[in-house]
Amino acid sequence: MPTVTIDDEPCEAQIGETILEVARRAGIWIPTLCHHAALEPYAACRICVVEIDRGRAPTRSVGRWQIVTSCNYPIRRDLTVRVNSQRAIRARHGVMELLLARSPESPELGELAARMGVDTTPYPKVTEAQRNCILCGLCVQVCDEIIGASAISLVGRSVERAVAAPFRMASEDCIGCGACAQVCPVGTIVVRIHEDEVEISPFKSRVKLRRCAECGRPLASEPVKEALCRRGGPTVVEMLAGENLCSRCKREKLARELLTSRK
Ligand code: SF4
Repeated sequence: MPTVTIDDEPCEAQIGETILEVARRAGIWIPTLCHHAALEPYAACRICVVEIDRGRAPTRSVGRWQIVTSCNYPIRRDLTVRVNSQRAIRARHGVMELLLARSPESPELGELAARMGVDTTPYPKVTEAQRNCILCGLCVQVCDEIIGASAISLVGRSVERAVAAPFRMASEDCIGCGACAQVCPVGTIVVRIHEDEVEISPFKSRVKLRRCAECGRPLASEPVKEALCRRGGPTVVEMLAGENLCSRCKREKLARELLTSRK
């Protein structure tokens, strides 16, 4: 078992674990944005950078330290890590200043920045067209890896880089599940409920909404029901084929039926 020393603290680690996993288990805080337990680490946002000891160069008497992303750096040997060295903190502050320029209106990002001790950015703010997106790619990953819809992707280059559906038009593959909005770390993706449609903003997708047949509360989108039936097979089809009721109305209906049967 390798020994990982983080900020002078020896921590238990397994081969193949990441620095972030080891640090979290030891109660050492490293900020993250694009990291999600359900998805493969992608290290897009760079906010989790730390310093690691690369050993001594043959011609030098002092160790070499390298900045790496902790969310996807695997433990393969004994390792010394600095999370709170001046250099690591400065690197993370630099990343946060860039992210704040991209997403200046996000309360979630502002909160994380404040926790890190960053309150402003020296960089010019991005344009409205880029819509507060930090380009972490988490929405693209969840749509592809978990939902299997692949409705959105990273498009364009340089300052034109953005997350969008093909040709920046509403995607026919979007099922309106809202998973992308759920994982967006800066709250840029929003699910809007209209009278009989679900809209995923800013991707312009709109799909039919199912509402509770009794109280009218939104249930889920029609394509989500279809996807569940496809994946779940006959049992799920049978389960969802009944009345379109929300959980509260279903409970109330069951209670009513129980009372009637006791009379
Ligand atoms: S709402 Fe649409 S774009 Fe977002 S994860 Fe679901 S299918 Fe993908």
